[in-house]
Amino acid sequence: MADHGIHHVTAIAGPARKNLEFYTRVLGLRLVKKTVNFDDPGTYHFYYGNSSGDPGSILTFFPWEHAAPGRAGVGSAQETSFRVPESAIGFWTHRFLEKGVEHAAPEKRFGRSVLPFKDPDGTSLALVGVPGTGAETADPEGEIPQDAAIAGLEGVTLLVGDAPRTGAILTDVFGFHETVRDGSLVRYRGDAGLGSTVDIRDAKGFLPGRLGAGSVHHVAFRAADDAAQEAMVKRLAEHHGIRTTEQKDRNYFRSVYFREPGGVLFEIATDQPGFTADELKERLGQELKLPPFLEGHRTEIEGVLPALS
Ligand code: ZN
Repeated sequence: MADHGIHHVTAIAGPARKNLEFYTRVLGLRLVKKTVNFDDPGTYHFYYGNSSGDPGSILTFFPWEHAAPGRAGVGSAQETSFRVPESAIGFWTHRFLEKGVEHAAPEKRFGRSVLPFKDPDGTSLALVGVPGTGAETADPEGEIPQDAAIAGLEGVTLLVGDAPRTGAILTDVFGFHETVRDGSLVRYRGDAGLGSTVDIRDAKGFLPGRLGAGSVHHVAFRAADDAAQEAMVKRLAEHHGIRTTEQKDRNYFRSVYFREPGGVLFEIATDQPGFTADELKERLGQELKLPPFLEGHRTEIEGVLPALS
């Protein structure tokens, strides 16, 4: 049985180089996989995560050099958060000041310290201080000490147009449970260590979100393997009247997709085979990796991808 939680979050960015610089150098995440968008191979697909590239630690980006800015609204993610040790919030506040990262003052939410900030494209992010959090630092520059390293995702806040139906899918299909309500916000928790918080904000009647730089494209939830995924697909159809896409092979996981009733694009991704499917853990993210069906076009693809340094 898999842990119940988020597998990865995928967002849209502007220029690739700026995105890479921010997530690896400023936040100290590991570039776990450098590949291309399988549906648009002239575009990079960057996967950032913890040093092992565990499910639940992964935030991915499609960087488009000339992406227009997105807009938050119904059917979009309002914020994506990472988990850090509680004692590290001060370190990160100083670091954001020093690096000129747009951020707000730390605040308390549901008893936890939260430091909201934005990446260079305006993506709304936050660091959440969680007691007992430990992580192996993946910082290539060694500027981020072990006791301040980002462990992985904490979760997402979603703006949805039909909160009860979104909540029902989280609990009935993805194994989350409702823990607390505060006005129009309902918090759901899974049992995975990382990526186990989903906050649903009822935004019925608001403008729909618009995809673009700084916005989340989809949220992927974990299934242990094909059989677990199939069981979820069946539950979605039988209990919620929702059909998913056919399964797509994403090389590092296998996925189905569906638009949930609140408007957000959801994915169900298998934990198998994982990011070490085509390179050693020690070498994750170092080379441009292509799926077998694109390997024959490597020269052409490398020729159109934007420069990273
Ligand atoms: Zn995905």
